[in-house]
Amino acid sequence: MDKTVVLYPCHLIGHLTPMVQLAKLFVQHGVAVTVALVEPQVESASFSAVVARAAATNPSVTFHVLPPPTPSEEAPRKIFDYLRHMDAPLRDFLRSLPKVHAILLDMFCAGSLDIAAELNIPAYFFMASGASILAIFLNLPSVAASTDRNSLSELGDSPLCLPGAPPFKATDLPQVVVDEDTSQGFLRIFKRLPEANGILINTFESLEARAVSALRDGLCVPGRPTPPVYCIGPLVTEGGDKKQECLEWLDTQPDNSITFLSFGSLGTFSKKQLHEIAVGLEKSERRFLWVVRSPSSDEKNIFEKLPEPDLDALLPEGFLERTKDQGLVVKSWAPQVEVLGHRATGAFMTHCGWNSTLEGILAGLPLLCWPMYAEQRLNKVFIVEEFKLGVVLRGYDEEVVKAEEVEEKVRWVMGSEGGRALRERAAAEKSTAVKALSEGGASHAAFVEFLNSL
Ligand code: UDP
Repeated sequence: MDKTVVLYPCHLIGHLTPMVQLAKLFVQHGVAVTVALVEPQVESASFSAVVARAAATNPSVTFHVLPPPTPSEEAPRKIFDYLRHMDAPLRDFLRSLPKVHAILLDMFCAGSLDIAAELNIPAYFFMASGASILAIFLNLPSVAASTDRNSLSELGDSPLCLPGAPPFKATDLPQVVVDEDTSQGFLRIFKRLPEANGILINTFESLEARAVSALRDGLCVPGRPTPPVYCIGPLVTEGGDKKQECLEWLDTQPDNSITFLSFGSLGTFSKKQLHEIAVGLEKSERRFLWVVRSPSSDEKNIFEKLPEPDLDALLPEGFLERTKDQGLVVKSWAPQVEVLGHRATGAFMTHCGWNSTLEGILAGLPLLCWPMYAEQRLNKVFIVEEFKLGVVLRGYDEEVVKAEEVEEKVRWVMGSEGGRALRERAAAEKSTAVKALSEGGASHAAFVEFLNSL
């Protein structure tokens, strides 16, 4: 191996998982890789599980845990401050390596561009989400500058039409990007994205052709060159251990019969909302596999450590018994990629996280979109309006999604002509994605081009 790269993901599962896949891609192309890991501020079982599995299944990739703040130090709660706190250990670690040909930063780690510059290491970004969202993020500093108080919160629910993205409403932007107290931190990051030597994106070019053209034509960053973009995805974890209860249960189910409901690594619902979903599923009389988490006690803290859910207390009385031949409820976490790829799974009700979106596409499944947090409302717009791979649960924007809508959408996707057409469209997109990844495909070629540029 004549080249060495360091990957620096942040600790959010949705960012870490595709970065691990990227590490594998480097190894496959003969490049030595170390992943510098930041541990979460709050102990997280899913983080530990993802890291343990990544390390076990990728022996050629080195994982280096950056030392967390010592107990005497106060670790900052806000994510960017916390990541800045890791700069010193990252610098020490990079200095300890003989020669690093490139560092690939998660977008949230943009502050570490300074360390890369200080140590003379070429820096690139790896976007754990797609090209359309990148186009929007790059545009946002100038959108903010065009408002009276230089603040995105002034936009209210105005419609926005930005180069590279379908029309959307300002209320579709991530809340943290708009809120007064967090917006400036994000805008600072978006302004720094063009400083990198290049941006690798977890997408495939044909899926987001409009965005990729706008990025390449320099339309998203007025007055400044946009670095080269490389669409190298979809990078998705391969299926692993098949000996899990829910997979064995799926083995007993008919082909394409199951709607899988899963809402990301952080999604939680109130007890009231869980009731509505349960009633809707039962009334749909269609089969389902549903990941249920305990409701959070603090809506503002998505990183809260949650207890195992008490299903009897959370779900309607007798629900589990009545639906035992219709569906299965899994507590807290399911092996999502394996479930999506199972022949029995026929539709995916998703919170529209970007990894879940790509995993659904690679499984060739129609998507029932229920955006919840982060950039998921925008992903929903892309999935429904641009990719034509899903339909929305309208109630996501109201207090609750009603049981009637859950029932209606599950019946529609599983039993209607429209649902059948959507499944065909999803199968076609899956083939395109698989082709992009294969040798000579667009994503494969983009990665080789990137490697040659190092
Ligand atoms: N995931 C999983 N099991 C679950 C919930 C989530 O394996 O029960 C995985 C999922 O396959 C995906 C990741 O967690 O790879 C979630 O990433 P995504 O970008 O979809 O959403 P986020 O968690 O960042 O909101």
